[in-house]
Amino acid sequence: MPLPKIDLPTYDFTIPSTGKVIKVRPFTVKEEKLLLMAIESKIASDIISTVKQVINNCVQDDEVDVDKLPFFDIDYMFIFLRAKSVGETAAVNLTCNNKLENGETCGHNFVTDVDVGNVELVRFEGVSDDIKLGPASGVRMRYPNYSIMRKIEELPDIDKKTHIIVSSIDYIYDKSGMHSHKDYTTDELKEFVEGLTEENYKKLEGYVDRFPTINGKISADCPKCGFHHDVRYTEFYDFFI
Ligand SMILES: [Zn+2]
Repeated sequence: MPLPKIDLPTYDFTIPSTGKVIKVRPFTVKEEKLLLMAIESKIASDIISTVKQVINNCVQDDEVDVDKLPFFDIDYMFIFLRAKSVGETAAVNLTCNNKLENGETCGHNFVTDVDVGNVELVRFEGVSDDIKLGPASGVRMRYPNYSIMRKIEELPDIDKKTHIIVSSIDYIYDKSGMHSHKDYTTDELKEFVEGLTEENYKKLEGYVDRFPTINGKISADCPKCGFHHDVRYTEFYDFFI
């Protein structure tokens, strides 16, 4: 006789970009192991595929396509599931940056607990996805998905911004009509973006610089010098290790 399967609990999760409430279940022990292995490997493609696979397993709603969601939805869901699965707190390493009276930095390394369940998605006001570049021309922007954003993070800094802009173009329009990103190669879109004036480039840059971001807060006192730290963090994968 096969062993019984123990039901996993489910939770309501609100998808930040759409406000839709879906059912999710926590990670299993096996999934936690897979995530740990992928994150420890530091290989971006492994992390991306494992995070996506595990999140797909945890989402109990067939209509949700993780590849269609903006990257910050996945990041936020990952933190939510991590908090429900592993625990609301995680240990992080901090280095004290207090300047001492002798001019040196304290530099003491210490471990502190972070409340992972207490993160927030910060949105900027007044960001339009319709960016006018001329009297009858412009670009309609959209948020890149998780795979694209994670891959861009592996690029050298000098290439990052333009790649994020290119990946955020939904379509370009002018008097002749709409030109969907789907019909052009990345190189063609890159050429378009790099062929813009500084002023127009800055408009596109303004959109991607104001993507919603996930923020957490750490408050901790250095055990050596007593200096109080208020740190904002945006890197969450470290919590697994
Ligand atoms: Zn210190």
